[in-house]
Amino acid sequence: LPVDQWITPATTRGEARRLVADAFAAARLDTPALDARVLLCKALDIAAIDLATEPDVAIGPAAAALADMVARRLRREPVARICGRQEFWGLPFTLSAATLVPRPDTETLVEAALKAMRDEGRAGSRLRILDLGTGSGCILIALLSELPAATGVGIDLSPEAARMARDNAAMNGVGERASFLVGDWAAAVKAPFDLIVSNPPYIGTGDIEALAPDVKLYDPRLALDGGPDGLAAYWRVGAEAWRLLRPGGHLFVEVGAGQAGDVGRLFAQHGLEDWVAIRDLAGIERVIHATHRHD
Ligand code: GLN
Repeated sequence: LPVDQWITPATTRGEARRLVADAFAAARLDTPALDARVLLCKALDIAAIDLATEPDVAIGPAAAALADMVARRLRREPVARICGRQEFWGLPFTLSAATLVPRPDTETLVEAALKAMRDEGRAGSRLRILDLGTGSGCILIALLSELPAATGVGIDLSPEAARMARDNAAMNGVGERASFLVGDWAAAVKAPFDLIVSNPPYIGTGDIEALAPDVKLYDPRLALDGGPDGLAAYWRVGAEAWRLLRPGGHLFVEVGAGQAGDVGRLFAQHGLEDWVAIRDLAGIERVIHATHRHD
């Protein structure tokens, strides 16, 4: 049955919650009850607690919006995209079709970079940070939110992503310390940087087809496609890091499962030494940290 025939203004919150969760479960979504709750709260503009405490209220005119959101989710559009928002590092981010949905895995990179700055006693210094392929801006903005004297540049090939990142920086109170440029990697910026970060596209072109539909159909291809072997972007990032890091400066990149050794060795070929892999919360080597050698 089309969604707008079983979600009507007379449907109560409680009924809608159950019907939507059942439809999502039947469609084999991973977290049907959670998705139902989040979309209901978004469509009705209520808090989760209101859904729990007042389930007998009819959903009224929000029915149309809810039916539309449920139909989108049934086509595998991620909840974050439907809501236009995703939290990362405890901060809110607005999304667009031109940006990857921020992933919890990527917080591993933020944590590792911050730890390195603290270990060097430089967390309060006027660090210069460069984020290559900034997307929503989530990595740079999270870092600036924790490093009060730092400034940063985020670069993206997509003008829409750069715009989105700028809005996100302003929304999170770091807009004065961040600038966002459209560009082909770092062609337009000048050395030196203390810290370079990147979550580049790293899926092998031939592996994109096998990704979950939520990713394959909705994350921008530009943010996923890492060329035939998935490593194309790391050559560019390594070359830019060698050119732009100050001696002793740090590079942190996210990598796909199984890519850590290849990426570490590739960076070593660019003169970026002492690389180490850092594991994410699932135990997968997710981040490579390399240092620009002193000489
Ligand atoms: N982490 C994303 C995924 O698993 C890929 C992001 C990327 O290529 N940087 O689909």
